Amino acid sequence: MKYKRILLKLSGEALMGDKNYGIDPTRLQQYTQEIKKVHDMGVEVAIVIGGGNIFRGVQAEKSGIDRVQGDYMGMLATLINAMALQSALEQGGMYTRLMSGIKIESVCEPFIRRRAIRHLEKGRIVIFGAGIGNPYFTTDSTAALRAIEVEADIVLKGTRVDGVYTADPEKDPTATKYKTISFQEVYEKNLNVMDMTAFTLCQENNLPIVVFDMNVAGNLSELVKGEEIGTLINSF
Ligand code: UDP
Repeated sequence: MKYKRILLKLSGEALMGDKNYGIDPTRLQQYTQEIKKVHDMGVEVAIVIGGGNIFRGVQAEKSGIDRVQGDYMGMLATLINAMALQSALEQGGMYTRLMSGIKIESVCEPFIRRRAIRHLEKGRIVIFGAGIGNPYFTTDSTAALRAIEVEADIVLKGTRVDGVYTADPEKDPTATKYKTISFQEVYEKNLNVMDMTAFTLCQENNLPIVVFDMNVAGNLSELVKGEEIGTLINSF
């Protein structure tokens, strides 16, 4: 196994599947199966899931909602996704814990670093909900920060694109994919991997990132075994 402890970042939008809003049950089941594969291999799994399928803070301003209020709404949206994922994983036979960046005691534990590490050591899948708990951040930043805090080996960013390209492959057909790329080069070429806060956290703490297509069955487990899937971003 190449990675012993991973932080898997899933976007809320990915959970939407082909729908326009909310959670696609088929997609939820697919993700559960993919996560189970790596969990069965003995990998310690922490997960951060976004909330873009339900609410995004930046959209709020257009509807007359204050930005900060909108961000809190976004954080609660991530928690809804996290609860759905937790339930699906448990139905799949895995032990899980949901830890929140905002205290919601009746629903989940607050994030406590040492406790999170203990859960992982015991083989429980830990989902970090409600982001960092502060407005003006994203779930990518949450993924980077929590990965550093729990000493994960890597952030695996599961998206619908299979890696980092020279240009946006959905707009430019001549775009080519990088197998590996350094933090420095991503920065210099202004490539879109994560927002800058998240990206800088990874770079400064030598935390590698892999961007990969989560919607291809087997990708996650192959990646963890050490196969070259997606794009690896590292210090090199
Ligand atoms: N958010 C926040 N602080 C955090 C994490 C998230 O304010 O630490 C809010 C922010 O408004 C963001 C929303 O939650 O737009 C949903 O998260 P994100 O957009 O990162 O989800 P994704 O794009 O991955 O679905």
